[in-house]
Amino acid sequence: MSSEAQESEISNKITCTDVTCPVCGIACDDIEVELDDVSVVTRNACIMGDAKFKELRSSHRITKPLINGKEAPWSEAVDKAAEFLVNAKRPFFFVGSETTSEAMAIAIEIAEMLGGLVDGNATICHGPTVMAMQDVGQAGCTLGETRNRADLDIYWGANPEDSHPRHLSRHSIFVRGFFTEQGRYGRKVIVVDPRRSTTAEHADLHLQLKPGTDFEVLSAIMTILNGFEPHESFTDVTGISREDIHKAAEMVKDARFGVIWVGLGIASTRGKHYNASMAMRLTQLGNKTGKFVILANRGHCNVTGFNQVLNWSHGFPYAVDFSTGAPRYQPGEYSCVDALRRGEVDALFCMCADLGAHLPKIAVERMCEIPVVSIETAEGPQAFISDVVLPGVLDAMECTGTFYRMDNVPIYARSFCDPPFDFTKSNEDTCTQLRDAIIQKLEAREKAKEEEAQAKPQTTPLSDEEFGQRLDKLVSRAG
Ligand code: SF4
Repeated sequence: MSSEAQESEISNKITCTDVTCPVCGIACDDIEVELDDVSVVTRNACIMGDAKFKELRSSHRITKPLINGKEAPWSEAVDKAAEFLVNAKRPFFFVGSETTSEAMAIAIEIAEMLGGLVDGNATICHGPTVMAMQDVGQAGCTLGETRNRADLDIYWGANPEDSHPRHLSRHSIFVRGFFTEQGRYGRKVIVVDPRRSTTAEHADLHLQLKPGTDFEVLSAIMTILNGFEPHESFTDVTGISREDIHKAAEMVKDARFGVIWVGLGIASTRGKHYNASMAMRLTQLGNKTGKFVILANRGHCNVTGFNQVLNWSHGFPYAVDFSTGAPRYQPGEYSCVDALRRGEVDALFCMCADLGAHLPKIAVERMCEIPVVSIETAEGPQAFISDVVLPGVLDAMECTGTFYRMDNVPIYARSFCDPPFDFTKSNEDTCTQLRDAIIQKLEAREKAKEEEAQAKPQTTPLSDEEFGQRLDKLVSRAG
């Protein structure tokens, strides 16, 4: 048991405070957990966080390694996993978000070593936003700054009341901060969403745009801020009145500190990364009259971490191919769904993500045809289609590690209990053991090649004279 967590033992009950929640991108760090042999009770966690902590005592937990659905010794499972990956010509490494940055770094290292492809959850969520960040640049800030300073919150294509349940109470609308002591009464709220979402119920202004017109609405606000009028077709195209779009532009102009929180509604609609680029350009414009920042409401706890790790290790945020020996970046070609759909991937490594439950049918069908190695904590479609399952460790509960919050701040999460097995201490440890097994196999293969080359009978090349004689013989025989 880790001594780092603040804990007190009462018989076999453990109470821990200031625990980090490893579920959504907020990474709340004020959770209290009471754990005994059969139950888990949490305080401060939302319904999503509470469900994750309950996995500690779930009957669906995978605690034994599996090969073809049958229990197997750990060393055998690691060896089999290494064999599948070493024998593949185009292995794919999907590095899921529900694990630490340390584990991700080793999985990426293995992908590079084997000349494979590597991708993460951004590929099916905020990938376009991440592309826009590289394209335009992100004026960001910490969640502490939004809490203490923001007097305008714009939720664009985001519904945090459902996706990040503690967002509004901890970091935006309702929280009272150092310069925002009036809480909700000192803040203005704009929600841009085609639906009357639960977050929109709290808005001072709800821009209920027609689906797929984010780009046009962003352009219109920028047009007004630059002193011009949007095109006469604006209301017909977007469904938003001139009065409302002017109101939105005024609110941007009047803000002392504005935040645009972008959700998947901006990244997953027509225009994709162009929408996110425009939102970042609006942020730049907002900085002419006040302070303006933009933050992506990242869904999974460490989805930002994967982009960070791949960026600092290889210069690109996701969808990278190492087959030429150097990293190449091409979303749409080296991204997970695309590579699987084309049928070129011949082995898949998947860590802490249920691709079986979330990818399109054509990609899952390909996964069923090739060897799949998964690090997985619970039974589900991913474990079901895997040839080798290595039991996953619950990060921030059973092992320590680093998570990048949605504001790109690294949080070091402490553990407060041990995994229910002793063959691995963490997903980082599992990746390290797998990497070492792969290195051994590669070295053995090299050695076998050298021995084979040495065992071949040595042939001495013909001299020019001998070659000429043999040639003459052949010509005369043919004649
Ligand atoms: S809001 Fe997110 S990080 Fe906070 S408790 Fe809920 S799931 Fe966990």
